[in-house]
Amino acid sequence: MSRSAGSSILNDMVSVCHRLAQRGMVSATDGNISVRTESGTIFATRSSVHKGDVTINDIVEVDRTGKLISGTGKPSTELKMHLFIYEQRPDVNAVVHAHPTVATAFAASGQALDNPVFPEVLVMLGIIPLAPYATPSTDEVPESIRPFVHEHNALLLANHGAVTYAQDLQQAYFAMEKLEHAAQIILFARMLGGERSLTNNQIQKLIDVSEQSYGKKVQFTTGEHHQKSAAFTEDDVYEIIKRVLQRLEDA
Ligand SMILES: [Zn+2]
Repeated sequence: MSRSAGSSILNDMVSVCHRLAQRGMVSATDGNISVRTESGTIFATRSSVHKGDVTINDIVEVDRTGKLISGTGKPSTELKMHLFIYEQRPDVNAVVHAHPTVATAFAASGQALDNPVFPEVLVMLGIIPLAPYATPSTDEVPESIRPFVHEHNALLLANHGAVTYAQDLQQAYFAMEKLEHAAQIILFARMLGGERSLTNNQIQKLIDVSEQSYGKKVQFTTGEHHQKSAAFTEDDVYEIIKRVLQRLEDA
């Protein structure tokens, strides 16, 4: 895609970079974001730029193998992780990687955010697993998320940070905000004696409500996954909650 044809994508990416910086979800030159275009190329932030200072000139375009197509500068050091997510998830068109403080504290202490605590988090993100430590910028990073990438849309990266991905950039960014907010509340809850997980009965009711509430928003064409709306399908919600129920049974 030409840069002029992709100008609205580039402007949206700049806004998201600035928001990540404003909300303290990155420091110095941390973090990187990308968007897959309709033509299959990928716009990604270049390395070594503060996300609060990003302009459209700090965004490069690469092909699916990471080869530079347009723009100047070196693509983000974590581009391999982004490319891997796009390869594995045809339904995903945007990836946000950041180091939000509290979520990264969980990742640094070896703790996933996988208790079923908040109904809206379960419906939006599902449970959030912790991918094992991998040396940043290497092939270890994609390998570390391989077991989780199909079943989850938000991951903690051990001793590193977090990554979220979605059908579009806004949803991927919202997922990162939601993840960090949930992590903050869980931290406070632990200071107050610990969070209480939803019961099976409450989760079953959530399934029932989700089927009614979220099912209506779905614009889903069988076999054309990329046309799915931002809202989860009934099946998505059921699968998410089923996994949560399975986890409770295993506990
Ligand atoms: Zn990072």
